[in-house]
Amino acid sequence: MSLIELEHVAKSWGDTTALHAVNLRIEPGSFCVLLGPSGCGKSTTLRMIAGLDVPTSGAVRIDGRDVTHLRPAERCIAMVFQNYALFPHLSVADNIQFGLQVRKLPKAECQRRLQQAAGLLGLEALLERRPGQLSGGQQQRVALGRALVAQAKVCLMDEPLSNLDAQLRQEMRAELRELQQRLGLTVVYVTHDQAEAMSMADQVVLLNKGRVEQSARPREIYARP
Ligand code: ADP
Ligand code: ADP
Repeated sequence: MSLIELEHVAKSWGDTTALHAVNLRIEPGSFCVLLGPSGCGKSTTLRMIAGLDVPTSGAVRIDGRDVTHLRPAERCIAMVFQNYALFPHLSVADNIQFGLQVRKLPKAECQRRLQQAAGLLGLEALLERRPGQLSGGQQQRVALGRALVAQAKVCLMDEPLSNLDAQLRQEMRAELRELQQRLGLTVVYVTHDQAEAMSMADQVVLLNKGRVEQSARPREIYARP
């Protein structure tokens, strides 16, 4: 069974229609990239999978259950944004653990997950720093760390690498993909960068004006005129 399923999902605000009857299936453990120009509906799709927005019609299901019927804690979804959404006044450790502390997880468990994520992401030596004392790539890892400690099944990423320079972006693509495979995470990743989509995806979903134009493996997606 697909882990994420969108069935005839449409979304409108007044006379602006962001999505028209989108059908989409995403397999567990896969890396799915939503690709398309600005305004085509990528972020709206992501927000609907996260349960942050409700479809005007149609349904979004995770593990067969309608997301709008799940409480946030049951959704097992983490989001990573392009601006990282880190708290500047908190240490790296507290930024990573923030969600766990809010959920009142026992201290020892928070600590265990923090150390594990820091190890995976190579952040062990930086835990006492503030975000402002980190490079862009390191800040990105902190944002990822926050998703990892939440032990989310699904990680939604909206242009997470777009603030990085070209060299670092290249490195982070490989790093992110490696991590996703090692952890068996299901990732839905938004970008308007075709090269990025092709190099990372198991499944590329090409959106255009709120419709799915193609959904296929990267080598099966053909360049359009
Ligand atoms: P993308 O992420 O591909 O750039 P979006 O999903 O952000 O596209 O937006 C798709 C369309 O929906 C755009 O025309 C955008 O202006 C519109 N839109 C998105 N969110 C809202 C909103 N809250 N209210 C009104 N229109 C919106
Ligand atoms: P992105 O850069 O990811 O495409 P945007 O910057 O377009 O996202 O949108 C950021 C926020 O503003 C989102 O919450 C989106 O729903 C909202 N938004 C986007 N377009 C509009 C719009 N035309 N009217 C009202 N809200 C919008």
